[in-house]
Amino acid sequence: MAGYVGRFAPSPTGPLHAGSLVAALASWLDARAHRGRWLVRIEDVDTPRCVAGAAQTILGQLAALGLVPDEEPLFQSRRGRSYQQALDRLLERGLAYPCACSRKDIEAALAAQGVERQRHGELVYPGTCRDGLRGRQPRAWRFLAPRGEVQWSDRRLGPQQQDVQAEVGDFVLRRADGLWAYQLAVVVDDADQGITHVVRGEDLVDNTARQILLQRALELPTPAYLHTPLVLGANGEKLSKQNGAAPLPTSDPLAALNAAAQTLGLPPRHGGLADALAAWVAAWAGSYNRTGD
Ligand code: GLU
Repeated sequence: MAGYVGRFAPSPTGPLHAGSLVAALASWLDARAHRGRWLVRIEDVDTPRCVAGAAQTILGQLAALGLVPDEEPLFQSRRGRSYQQALDRLLERGLAYPCACSRKDIEAALAAQGVERQRHGELVYPGTCRDGLRGRQPRAWRFLAPRGEVQWSDRRLGPQQQDVQAEVGDFVLRRADGLWAYQLAVVVDDADQGITHVVRGEDLVDNTARQILLQRALELPTPAYLHTPLVLGANGEKLSKQNGAAPLPTSDPLAALNAAAQTLGLPPRHGGLADALAAWVAAWAGSYNRTGD
């Protein structure tokens, strides 16, 4: 497909593991099946969670697996100016506002309303600072989330909807510690890199409605989305660096790729790495490629 641009966007919090490889392989296969370009973006905005050297480790692992980006990787830590421009644009349009609330303030405001609104451990912001700071100092910046359902369609999971204002509330764009929030960074970067197709793990599906709202507010295009199956650890939870996923053994790249391919419903392959990847591109083109063009 002319103009297809895809990406893999790992956070350098540790080496690639069996779970993150599924998203890497799927995004690469989708790009190749569409005869498009495949980019890698290192999402190192959340600096306290980043591990020194992890970005280079991930890039080395990808290369050993035959997954080589078509351009130099982009590092989010160098993109602060673009994120600031986007925030300024939202502020000018009245679609973002400064917020002086600490977590304690938010808890107190929710308690005063007699509600306990949480989502994945995050409090649903009650909108305290929407009409001004009343003399308090700004800490964070929030997006003014419109009311109503956001509807979109995932290429694998089908129709999705979320009422962001009701379920998440006005969400953070720049955090009280000065760091840029993932939601803003990912939307600005996907647009600046010309990403047409996002392929990533299903753990991120819940963020998509927020990202679509930001794209609309910034008048940016919405890419096609495909969220891939997760690999579960022995405890039945999503395999992640946080729950001790082992780094991939790159001494046997084909074994690692076969495990990821199996999660994606692709047949096992033996022999050379390049042949296996080519066979999976053909198999992928016959399945997921039918939607999202
Ligand atoms: N950096 C995110 C992660 O590693 C992925 C973001 C995305 O693909 O949109 O979970």
